[in-house]
Amino acid sequence: MKRRIILMGPPGSGKGTVATRLRQEFGLDHISSGHLLRREVEIGSAIGQRVGLFLENGELVPDRTVLWFMGEWMKSAPLNDGFQLDGFPRTLSQAKALDEWLAKRNAPIEAVMLFACNLTLVLERITGRWNCPKCGRVYHIYSAPPKVAGLCEDCPTSLTQRTDDTEAVVRKRFGIYKRHAKPLADYYEQQGKLTVVDAALSPDERFAKTVAALN
Ligand code: AMP
Repeated sequence: MKRRIILMGPPGSGKGTVATRLRQEFGLDHISSGHLLRREVEIGSAIGQRVGLFLENGELVPDRTVLWFMGEWMKSAPLNDGFQLDGFPRTLSQAKALDEWLAKRNAPIEAVMLFACNLTLVLERITGRWNCPKCGRVYHIYSAPPKVAGLCEDCPTSLTQRTDDTEAVVRKRFGIYKRHAKPLADYYEQQGKLTVVDAALSPDERFAKTVAALN
């Protein structure tokens, strides 16, 4: 399945779990802007130092910085093999810039999946979330536990919890998401590319709905 898609949804909406399965079952490259930025923070690169505080506080990195950063990824991205973008674009201006980049390479976004989720469910999900710091795979102690407790199945690396997955920061991230989600969803709806999936569905149902929409 060589599709170019965007996964949208608040933190904890389960888009990361869907992304992992799309990568495993269809070989679709998973590009998470949050994961890429966290890696820069960890290695202490110049960009990492610039964005560290935004990530820690759950605030959006300014568009100009994110566009430069993701523009670098775009230069070498194998666009014809397909990809799933997770966490980018987050604002309308990011979406417009992405469309311009892709139009130049004749490789437009084909579908946008929006995992709709309320704050109560988000908070419930986030507290059980563990991530692989190396590959970015997301686990959940109840709904998607690793085969060996505490270890990534793909790497294997010890799983960690994100410092921005605390209740206070998640509430803030959810509020910011809400502010930007509507204009972004309207933008893709107008392009006829948007499918909304109820994030309260089970991981299997969410995945099945996504695959059905992509087919
Ligand atoms: P995520 O892993 O998608 O929840 O992203 C973690 C953090 O990275 C966010 O809270 C932002 O600080 C930053 N971030 C990731 N993607 C973007 C983006 N497209 N625009 C602005 N900030 C972003």
